[in-house]
Amino acid sequence: MLESIWKQCLDYLESALPLKQFDTWLRPLQAEVTADGLCLLAPNEYVRDWVDQHYREQIRDTLEKVGGGQPCSVTVAVGSIPSPETEARDSNSGQDDDSTDRRLVVGLQSKFRFSNFIEGKSNQLALAASRQVAENPGKAYNPLLIYGAVGLGKTHLIHAIGNVIRRRPRARVAYLPAMDFVRDMVSSLRHNRMDQFNQYYRSFDALLVDDIQFFAGKSKSQEEFFHAFDALLQGDHQIVLTCDRYPRDVDHLPERLTSRFASGISYAIEPPELETRAAILTAKAAAARVELPEDVALYLAQRLKSNVRDLEGALRRVIMGSGFQGQEITIDYCTETLQDLFSSHDHSITIEVIQKTVADYFRLRVSDLTSKRRSRAIARPRQIAMGLARELTNRSFPEIGASFGDRDHTTVLYACRQVEKLRKSDNSVDTDYRNLLRRLRT
Ligand code: ADP
Ligand code: MG
Repeated sequence: MLESIWKQCLDYLESALPLKQFDTWLRPLQAEVTADGLCLLAPNEYVRDWVDQHYREQIRDTLEKVGGGQPCSVTVAVGSIPSPETEARDSNSGQDDDSTDRRLVVGLQSKFRFSNFIEGKSNQLALAASRQVAENPGKAYNPLLIYGAVGLGKTHLIHAIGNVIRRRPRARVAYLPAMDFVRDMVSSLRHNRMDQFNQYYRSFDALLVDDIQFFAGKSKSQEEFFHAFDALLQGDHQIVLTCDRYPRDVDHLPERLTSRFASGISYAIEPPELETRAAILTAKAAAARVELPEDVALYLAQRLKSNVRDLEGALRRVIMGSGFQGQEITIDYCTETLQDLFSSHDHSITIEVIQKTVADYFRLRVSDLTSKRRSRAIARPRQIAMGLARELTNRSFPEIGASFGDRDHTTVLYACRQVEKLRKSDNSVDTDYRNLLRRLRT
């Protein structure tokens, strides 16, 4: 009971605090149930003291709220609850011979699965490649690289792959943030333990390294990473990497590293389109056993466009808030609760910016887009611009029509449908649309 309250409390704090603070101080905590409450276990004294001074009261208040008003004592101490994984790793370290016969799973979070990843046009290819790799590790794409902006599901997918591979007999799977890989390597170098380092990482059937943009600029680690990586590729080990942009765009990643990712093994995740955003919200609400009316899901999806992490944060706030206040989840309620988020989103993209961007892209003038001319070379970009305005702004069809040379709202409606249809049937339209989306969102 208390464990689940602690989980809910963490969920709430994750949405209430800046992510960085949450990741640094609260995510590392483990909770142990004591006679009258919870004892939070911190990895070291530093974290313990900081949490004790800065977060203990907030945690206690939140626990009380989540637990329906039941007071709950909270203490903070240094310690950890051993997990099967850390025990396995500890007992393996320092042994050379039979370690590869043992099952070992490091760092995987079981909550990230394919079954709770919502498919959309924006992630279709990356998802398909991930599934392939999960079913045929070491065979399909190796290494597999998934790249895309923050909050779009890279970490989710890489764990999902691991969670399938781990079901194999005697599977050895490691997930780790690139930072941890670097840290481990630097310390192995310092202590002259590179042999063990290589042996340890080579012993995995699947090695999943998240956020390799962090290798950039660490020249020592790049070299070493490249060697380690090269060695790992010699065997059948599956390697999966993620990066927050296309590796060639990461400054100071060596050419010989980026050239590895060139052909057919890199898949982008794009920001989800409206329908996918709505589907994600509906699915996440259902997972939290909350009924989210369809109109509210669509409304939230229209207003929140940046990434899935923000969508989730917003949804969590709505769910938590409505739970505390016993409020029904309606459009009005969401507008009120998420006012701060909405206003920061609203200012970002205007129809004028869209027109300018589209005109530049197709080498036209903005006045062409708003003109009455109907030649295809102008009509098509105009339709695309209208489609983008519908997706990226909160303007109504009549308002969009007005901005495009006083056109009727039915013209806008037709344009949006047309663009949707063309994107499915004509690859070049789809590519243009995505390129424009990307330009507009950065
Ligand atoms: P990234 O690693 O790309 O920054 P994450 O994988 O951490 O992003 O995703 C952020 C959050 O959004 C996670 O909680 C993840 O589960 C969720 N998420 C992202 N994409 C999807 C999706 N397509 N379906 C369901 N959840 C998603
Ligand atoms: Mg990530």
